Amino acid sequence: MAEILPALPFETAQAPPGQEPPTYYVDENRQVMVLCPKCERARNLDFTQHPEVGPVIRTWCKCGNEYFCRLEFRRTYRKRVNLRGTFGLPDGSMQGDMTVTDISLGGVGMKLPTSYGLQPGMFLDVSFQLDNLKGTPIQRRVLVRTVHGLSIGAEFVGHRERDKDLGYYLMA
Ligand SMILES: [Zn+2]
Repeated sequence: MAEILPALPFETAQAPPGQEPPTYYVDENRQVMVLCPKCERARNLDFTQHPEVGPVIRTWCKCGNEYFCRLEFRRTYRKRVNLRGTFGLPDGSMQGDMTVTDISLGGVGMKLPTSYGLQPGMFLDVSFQLDNLKGTPIQRRVLVRTVHGLSIGAEFVGHRERDKDLGYYLMA
């Protein structure tokens, strides 16, 4: 399970030359979960007291690593969908079926047939197909943010190579 700790220090910074930091979508409460690329610790950043922050920040992980994040404050459009898919724990110890009920550039909402014991802070690998013409496959690691009964809210983490297709899909 991911370690989730509050109060990560950060400051507005320039991205290092030739390096594009990963984009994180800040939610409507001006909070975002970021991930240390070195040790994969997830940490919450709170921008409620920082109206002028970004768009790129430098932050420091407990492991000693310094890393950069690009922040996207636009509240991303969430599309209601009904897409069957699967999820699994990254270590392969559990797999299950789920239905994606909504999707945005920042994450997915999922409905489970049974609880599977999922809790906020867990990482999952989710796999499903968009119902667009291409049937774009989406395979992404997500971080579970909310669990309400059988409804799961999860945020995408890591690389975003399919974002273009997903972006078009959300506009359709
Ligand atoms: Zn770290």
